[in-house]
Amino acid sequence: MVIIWGTRVRYRIHAEGEFFCPECGGDRPYRKLLARRWFTLFWIPVIPRRRVWWVVACGECGHHYRPAVLDKPTIAAMSRMLQGAARALVMYVLRNGGNQDNPVVRRQAVEQIRAVRPEGYDDSTLEEDLFCVPRDPAPMLNQIAEHLDSAGREALLVRGVRVALADGPFNAGELSAIQAAGRALEMTPAHVAGVLLMARRSVDNPGS
Ligand SMILES: [Zn+2]
Repeated sequence: MVIIWGTRVRYRIHAEGEFFCPECGGDRPYRKLLARRWFTLFWIPVIPRRRVWWVVACGECGHHYRPAVLDKPTIAAMSRMLQGAARALVMYVLRNGGNQDNPVVRRQAVEQIRAVRPEGYDDSTLEEDLFCVPRDPAPMLNQIAEHLDSAGREALLVRGVRVALADGPFNAGELSAIQAAGRALEMTPAHVAGVLLMARRSVDNPGS
């Protein structure tokens, strides 16, 4: 008699949700699975092996990942974080600069936030934000910093710099706000100084 003996991996669904699939390059449904290899007899699983491991499977492309893939935020979550960080940064610059009633500065502030939150942000939303956005932007900037590279952190800080420069050179309050925001974004003082220098040059020589 021929005995057909082999092994097979079986999966048990443990959790489901949405994640950023690196293979698809977008937010997709996932299943977190507990995997275990079984010995099979005539293709029927009969004896489980002791070792188990976790797998995250994309519901779209079927690619398998280690569970650490779930540590990365989805595009939707990243977008919410970026909007929150930009609003916190701009309000911080406005409050510390003491020029939140200047229409030119307010227009620039609205423009900078609309760049990351296009839907329905205007001067009245800005007025609400000046009241309700937390006074200390550090926690939000700190949270997003770990998901941004150096260029991404710089691009975010520049939004605050443009608001500060809307009515002329930095005042002391604006400068210290930008420097504190740079620290919260885990940028070095030299990197922040470079960003400030570039921003000043582009204001002094528009179009260059
Ligand atoms: Zn996928």
